[in-house]
Parts: sequence; structure tokens; C-alpha cells
Amino acid sequence: MASQVDEILKLMHQPARIRNIGICAHIDHGKTTMTDSLLAGAGMISEELAGKLLVMDFHADEQERGITIDSANVNMLHEFEGEKYLINLIDTPGHVDFGGEVTRAMRACDGAVVLVDAVEAMMPQTETVLRQALRERVKPVLFINKVDRLIRELKLTPDGMQDRFLKIIADINNFIKGIAPPEFGNKWQLSVQEGSVGFGSAIHKWALSFPYMKKIDMSFADILKAYEEGKENEIRKRARLHEVILNMAIRHLPNPLEAQKYRVPKIWPGDLESEDGKSLLNCDSKGNAAFVVTKIVIDEHAGEVAGGRLFSGTLKRGQEVYMNQAKQWTKIQQVNLYRGPQRLIVDEVVSGNIVGVVGLKGVFAGETVSSQPIEPFEALKHLFEPVVTISIEAKKASDLPKLVEVLKKVGKEDPTVKVEINEETGEHLLSGMGELHLEVIANRIKTEKGVDVTTSTPIVDYRETVQSASDVFEGRTPNKHNVFFVALEPLEPAVYDAIIAGEIREGRIKKKDEELWKKLEACGIPTKESRQYKDIYRGSVFLDKTKGIVHIGEVLEMCIDAFEQLVNGAPLAKEPAIRLKVSFVDTKLHEDAIHRGPAQVMPAMRDALTDAFMNASPTLYEPLQILQLESEVRYMGEISKVIQNRRGQLIAVDQEGEHLTIKARLPVNETFGLAADLRGATEGRANYFIVDQLFQRIPQELQQKIIRQIRQRKGLEVEK
Ligand code: GDP
Repeated sequence: MASQVDEILKLMHQPARIRNIGICAHIDHGKTTMTDSLLAGAGMISEELAGKLLVMDFHADEQERGITIDSANVNMLHEFEGEKYLINLIDTPGHVDFGGEVTRAMRACDGAVVLVDAVEAMMPQTETVLRQALRERVKPVLFINKVDRLIRELKLTPDGMQDRFLKIIADINNFIKGIAPPEFGNKWQLSVQEGSVGFGSAIHKWALSFPYMKKIDMSFADILKAYEEGKENEIRKRARLHEVILNMAIRHLPNPLEAQKYRVPKIWPGDLESEDGKSLLNCDSKGNAAFVVTKIVIDEHAGEVAGGRLFSGTLKRGQEVYMNQAKQWTKIQQVNLYRGPQRLIVDEVVSGNIVGVVGLKGVFAGETVSSQPIEPFEALKHLFEPVVTISIEAKKASDLPKLVEVLKKVGKEDPTVKVEINEETGEHLLSGMGELHLEVIANRIKTEKGVDVTTSTPIVDYRETVQSASDVFEGRTPNKHNVFFVALEPLEPAVYDAIIAGEIREGRIKKKDEELWKKLEACGIPTKESRQYKDIYRGSVFLDKTKGIVHIGEVLEMCIDAFEQLVNGAPLAKEPAIRLKVSFVDTKLHEDAIHRGPAQVMPAMRDALTDAFMNASPTLYEPLQILQLESEVRYMGEISKVIQNRRGQLIAVDQEGEHLTIKARLPVNETFGLAADLRGATEGRANYFIVDQLFQRIPQELQQKIIRQIRQRKGLEVEK
């Protein structure tokens, strides 16, 4: 019999026999338990270890907290209808503070097993992960887990169980229909009859689907009976978890050949008719290699391992490759496939697979690596931006170089973290999506990387925007030879929303872009104006409205650079700007290029933009989070008090028996220490999750005070 490694090497070349899938779920619904049981069932780790090992939980820290933070790759071999298949499984974290990981993991997958706890049913993160999956055109199937709890804790009858399943499926189907692109809303509905829904118990290692129940002639009553008699082992013997789940994945989730046909047009902005386009659509191993890095793991021995999906072509050890965003060539030292949780060093890897690559100097998650330069893949859009920052310092001065090194690594391992140095104070600043996110990272720096650090209390990141249209302002170059005229106004909400939703792509617009024009027109932008869009950056836009300027092409890029600088640090308090629409109205340029270099153009443009910004009723926005709290009805009063004491508002209150679900809106500034407060108020019987994040104008009476605080903190000039 061929060894597992031989089988994997053979299957790697047969895309029709590959499935790249992720398991995604709300925290604690049983993803890790299921992954371990799958690996054990498929013979990739021993049965006894499964459940104890928590293979996917690499970091010591995660085992302590019992949550999975990083996504890692494992693969399995599985036989289905007499044929062997290679299943690449990508783990995704369930806590929304780590949502960035989910987005990135989805890029590498074509299908997702959405796991739902039978008792808790659909939860906020179930919605979030489904939304992330569908946005990347990743097809879902469903597994309803913890069915043992329905029997043992809720004591449901067979009919009761069936009703509960139907309700969960209907809820998820409705949700899919509501958010899926129209062509998939119906096609991707889950169906019990067809077997795209499974149910079972990950901990007791059994699973069933409707077709499988028929095949082995088992009913709900049989399952109940087995549990009553303490014979759940009997169910496991007849309905093995890995058998049913992996069969479901193979039958209902697409292989890379099928998936890339509809995924590539969504996630790759290049020309589909070009050679590269065709190679990507066809997952062609002979084409230009195109590898998207979705995750960087720092390995003790190999160093940085870039994990990701090879969409076309072949990568080999020793090959020179191009990093398209960094615009740099580099050399591959090693290519890897996975065998269970282990990394295998192989000679080459081909398209359609999840692979590891060692030796990509300076690579970041999101990079497109290719054998010849190629249009990079769409930027990975994260649902929430970092809005909370802490400063972090080494306790011992001698540890400083090590801290700098560690922070660089952290920034790479988790691109939703932003690492910056405050030029004025020399402090290191770490930004993330919430208090817990940053706490986990700081802890990891201490325990895993051995650098003792102190951290400041968290602070919130604000945004700046304008509320009215400015007059036209001019900026003159220091040598007085050139003048730039600009005006600024709030961006139309329809355009802003489309940018945030990822329907309108960010980036500079250099050529005719019919698709963009169509989308802008659909948002109500006049045809003529849509042609004037030259840059879309962090939720703001730059329009070139100049006419008949001979040398415009030579200064436009510099003007856009100045615009992007303004967006990165706006005039009120050097916080990022959002929702700006900048119009470059006119310019007078010197004949001679030597008199209009960057040192002339940039400050002139910046002056004009700053004046226009200050003239357009500038204002400060703060981040808010919509939280969902889960608790018991008797704590209603206590929980509302905690929320209201923190400038929060209750949006919805739901009661089902003793169970209480509250949706509330809170300024992020007021969320610090919330977990501890809630624990105190409810004897530890409340949980909360972030459902959404948005920015809202700060009340006028607080504006000046907060601007002053930020400017002081940043060492900027403060108005008396
Ligand atoms: P994750 O956060 O989604 O990775 O969830 P885990 O796999 O860590 O599981 C969370 C908790 O649920 C653990 O205490 C598991 O033992 C438990 N669990 C997982 N699957 C089942 C199941 O099928 N039945 C029951 N009763 N508990 C389960």
C-alpha cells in the first residue's frame, strides 16, 4: 500500500480530488473538538490523543483560555465512493476580536463547514463567519453539533429534535439568502434531503446526515435509545464523525477547478481574458504561479513560513519569485505540503493546494507571490478595523532590541494588528480590534517570546471627517511657481457604503475602469463625474476635475500622495480621515519639470487640502460597537445598569424561557473593563460578543476636550 506521503504527493496533482475547506463557528460551539476528531478518524493523529491534544491550538496561551486564536493548516486523506481525496482543512478562530484571521483563512478555502451548537443555535459569530465566507464566495454546509445536549440536558423527543434542526436550518438559509450574491442565494441553500446538513456530537465522535441515516437504517429514536442505555459508543461505531463530515465536504463542496471559475472574478481584479486570467480561472499548474499568502507562522527551525493558497502554476525550491505588492524579487528556500498537522518538505507544489513557502523575505499576509509579475489579488478586507491602541514598553532597557524584533513578528503574524512607533516619544504603539485582542498579544509577547513588558491602559482611535462643502482653496509651492486649487466635501453615503462593503475597490485608478464607472453610476454619481475618480483610499476619494492642463500627468501622482497623507493623519488631531470627497479643481504649473518636484508639489497640495478641510465644518467621530449579551432573565436589571453607566443604549431585548439576549450599542471608549463589570453584576453568568462596529459623531460639548487630549498625547501643538 502506498504511504500517506505518496498518496498526498499524487493527489496534489489532481485538483478534482482536492477540497480546501474551513470550519467556522461561534466560539465554544466545538470547532477544535471536531477538528481533532476528524484528524483522529482520518488516521492523521491517534484516537486517544484527539480531544486532549487540541492540535489546532498551537499557542500555550490558547490552551489556557480554551479558545483557538490562530488558523493553521492541516490535511487529511479520505476515501469516498472508492476514490481517495485530499482534504485541506484551515482552522479559523471563533472570537470576533480575531475576525481578521477568519477573513484571511477564507481566501484560501472554497468551502466551509459551519458548525452550530444545537442548544445555542445561531449566534452573532455564526452570522459574522457566514458573512465573511460568502463575501469570498466560499460555499457553506452545516453541521449541528452537541446533539447529545438536546438529549441529556433538554430531554427532547425525536420530534422535538427534528423541529429544532429545522428551525436552525431555516434561520441559516434565510440568512444566506439575505446576504449571498443573487446568483448563489438559492443555489447555496442548505438541504436536509440532499445531505448538505449534518448533525451529531463532536465530543462523542458521531455524525449523521439524512442520506446516511437512510443508508445505515438509523432513526432519531435509535439515537435517543442508545443514549438512554449509555451506549453512545454504538452510534459512533455505525456513524463515524469523520466519515459523515468528510463525505459531506466531498459531495457538496466544490473542488478548486470548479470554485476558481467563479471565485477568481470576485477576488482577482485583473483581466480575465489575459494569459494570467485564464490560468487562474482554470487552476492551471503550467501557468504563471500565483500564490496568495493568508498566514505567516514563525517556525522555530524554518523561520517564517508563509501559508496560503496556490491558485495557479507551480512553485519549486530555489525558484526566483516576485512579491507583487512589495515589488521585489526573492528566492524560495523550501516548499511545503501538510500531512495532518505536520509540514512536509517537498520538491514542488502545484495549483489548487494549500501550501507553505519558506524564504520569502519581508513577506506580509495578503501578498500575491508569482513567478512573473502579475496583477495582485484583491486586498483582504477585514470586517472591523483596529480601533484600540496600547503603548508597550520593555521592563528592562536591555530587552528593547528584542521587543522591536518581537513586535515586527507580531505585526506579521496578525496583520489586523498595527504596530507603530510614536516619533515624538519613541513609544511603541500596538493597535487592535478590542481590549481582549491586545491583551492576548501582550501576554503572548511575555510568555512565548520571553520579553517582560508593561502596557498602558488602552486608548481609542478616532476618525475625522467634514460635514459641509468647503470653498475652493489654493496652495502655492514654496518656489511660488505653481498653484493648486482644491475643494472638499462629505462623500456621498451610497459611495462610502459601497467602498466599505467591498463592492467598490480601493486603489488608484490609472486606466479606463468600466466596472468602477458602472458601480459609481449605480450609486447615483453622474457619468461625467465617475470618470474623474483617480483614487479611492481608506473610505475617501480623490477626483481630478482639471481641464486642459498639459503637464497634469506629471504632477497627479504627487497630488494623490498628498491626499493620502491627509487621510492618514487629518488636521484636527492627526487621526485618520474618513468619508472625504476631494476635488482637484484647477492648477497653474511651471513649464519646466525641475520646478515642480515632490518637495514643491506635496507641501502646496497639503496646505490647500488642510485649509479646505478646516473650512468644511470638520468634526471628530468615535468608534461604537454593537454588542450582543447573553445571560439569564433575572440579571436584566443589573446588565442594563452596567450598559447605561457606560453611555450605552439597549437596542433590543429578547427573552426565551430563562434565557436573555440583549443587543446594545456602546462607545468603544466605554468598553474597557466591561467583561469584569458584567461578571461582577451577574455572578459570571453573562457573555458578550461584538456584532458590528461603526463610527459616530462625538457630541459637540466633548469635541474640543478630546481633540486637546489626543494632541497632548501625541506631542502636537495644543491651542490655548
Ligand atoms: P471551539 O471554541 O469552537 O473550538 O470549541 P471547543 O472545541 O473548544 O469546544 C468548546 C466546549 O464544548 C468544550 O468544553 C468541549 O468539550 C465542548 N464540546 C465540543 N463538542 C461537544 C459535543 O458534541 N457535545 C458536548 N456536550 N460538548 C461538546
